[in-house]
Amino acid sequence: MRASDFEIRNHDKLDGILVELCEMVIAGQRHNPERYGMVGACVLDPQGNKTVGSSTNRNGKWVHAERVAIERYLDQHSEILPGSIIVTTLSPCNETDDDTAERRAGDSCTDLINQSGIKEVYCGYRDPSQENNHNNYQEIFTKNLKIRNLSKQFADTFLPNYLHELSFLGSPCTKDCSGHRAGYRWSKDRGNIQAASWSRSFNNGAALAAAGR
Ligand SMILES: [Zn+2]
Repeated sequence: MRASDFEIRNHDKLDGILVELCEMVIAGQRHNPERYGMVGACVLDPQGNKTVGSSTNRNGKWVHAERVAIERYLDQHSEILPGSIIVTTLSPCNETDDDTAERRAGDSCTDLINQSGIKEVYCGYRDPSQENNHNNYQEIFTKNLKIRNLSKQFADTFLPNYLHELSFLGSPCTKDCSGHRAGYRWSKDRGNIQAASWSRSFNNGAALAAAGR
């Protein structure tokens, strides 16, 4: 058995790390809420070495927690050991041209992790605003509801409101906002035109873009 297999199966241990990361985020808010953000991440290698980091504001851009943790790891160790994993309160970002990308320092965390060779990421909460999935690693989510809810509460402080489930730019959604979002993006990509598809939510999403929302 590889060490990494053990790590990712040991959910209790990884949940313990998520709790530490949540505590770090809260401490950051007490210490300096302008500088520290609402996501915590760590790199854990098969030898048990661990470097942690909170999302950090540097010169007006957000260095995401995964990047902070990876940079710290590389400061202390020459390279990331095979079998290392990322633990993060929020699933890694993957968009290249949304609001998150605009405010972010560097590439998406998905690209960063892909390049790092890390194959497994253990997350507190899935970021519903990130849909450009192109990860070369496996995402595993905590089954601990308390940790998930706390991670979500953190994320909800900065995720765009219109992406909250059951409402997209004020337009109510039936199950989730995927239809609205797809139509909205489709329309934006085509210069904000109306849609006439079979899907009402897709058309409504396009209509919101056409209305300049
Ligand atoms: Zn990120």
